[in-house]
Amino acid sequence: MIQKEKYIYLYTHCRTTRGESRSIIYDLEKEGYDFIPNSLHEIINRFNGYPIDEILMNFETDEKKIILGYFEFLIDKGFCFLSKNKIPITNTTEKYEYAEEILNCIIDVNKDSNHDFYKISTEINDIGIPYIQLRFFDKVTSDYLIGVLKKFHNTQCRHIELIVPYTISLDNKIENVLEINSRLQSVIYHSCKEEKVRRYGKGEIYYYKSVITDESHCGKNDPLFFTMNKRFHDLSIYANTCLFKKISIDKEGNIKNCPSLTSNFGNISTVSLSRALMKSEFKELWYINKEQVEICKTCEFRNICTDCRAYRESESLYSKPSKCNYNPITMKWGKVGD
Ligand code: SF4
Ligand code: SF4
Repeated sequence: MIQKEKYIYLYTHCRTTRGESRSIIYDLEKEGYDFIPNSLHEIINRFNGYPIDEILMNFETDEKKIILGYFEFLIDKGFCFLSKNKIPITNTTEKYEYAEEILNCIIDVNKDSNHDFYKISTEINDIGIPYIQLRFFDKVTSDYLIGVLKKFHNTQCRHIELIVPYTISLDNKIENVLEINSRLQSVIYHSCKEEKVRRYGKGEIYYYKSVITDESHCGKNDPLFFTMNKRFHDLSIYANTCLFKKISIDKEGNIKNCPSLTSNFGNISTVSLSRALMKSEFKELWYINKEQVEICKTCEFRNICTDCRAYRESESLYSKPSKCNYNPITMKWGKVGD
């Protein structure tokens, strides 16, 4: 039984996003969400921090029971709490100041790539990029990977992730690869026969069946890829959740925002990453957020969904990601190509 004299509050780590046909309420700490009607989204945003009995005064008699049911649901699910005291509410959505000039770097490699990894790692170190993802499209040996990782030994990067085709011979020696560089924290195998995850020391090894032959595998939008944490949520409000402070080197050595985009800012064999970054156009896509993207701006998932600007439904820079088949009006996921 709800004590109606108490004040109701949305927990600091919970948020709601209104969509065209329904809203979503999520917990950025527990990484869970529930769907709610748009009317409840309005109530939460209008009456957060009000006493229940004062809120009920705004509704007709037959509506009061529904509103109390809503509040029971919100408290039961851990999205809201009651307090006998009035608490000042502060807006906890932050515009993070990132000290890093670039936050992450993708480097693509196939059998024809001719990357000078020593030069690349030196430039990554000069910029101070903390996260590197190396994506290999063709089979490689453990010795080759060890040689590449050794180049990143004395850099400032904090986290390296490998995406690499599965082979039995590589998997037999993957522990040697993981041990060569303490910053290597995850290995993602593609082209596997079965899907599983296993831990090794501080690292994790993921086995996926999907076959990745080039950069076009990227950009899929699906609930599996939703990200629920405060930093991502807050970033989604003012910047692009994929391309903000990202730099990439495609399999041919071209410096890009992401390997799937067509614009390139010179080849790493002749242009430094720092020089590419100085071009004003390099940062153009960084601030396209979901509120500006057609269809996505009406979608309840827009603050937890990665925004792909490479694969789009039309030439417009603001069109919906083409690898998403969600319809915010019908609230249905379609099949790829629908
Ligand atoms: S913009 Fe799209 S294709 Fe490029 S890295 Fe992001 S999700 Fe992948
Ligand atoms: S419509 Fe846009 S915001 Fe919604 S799930 Fe698809 S890509 Fe994400």
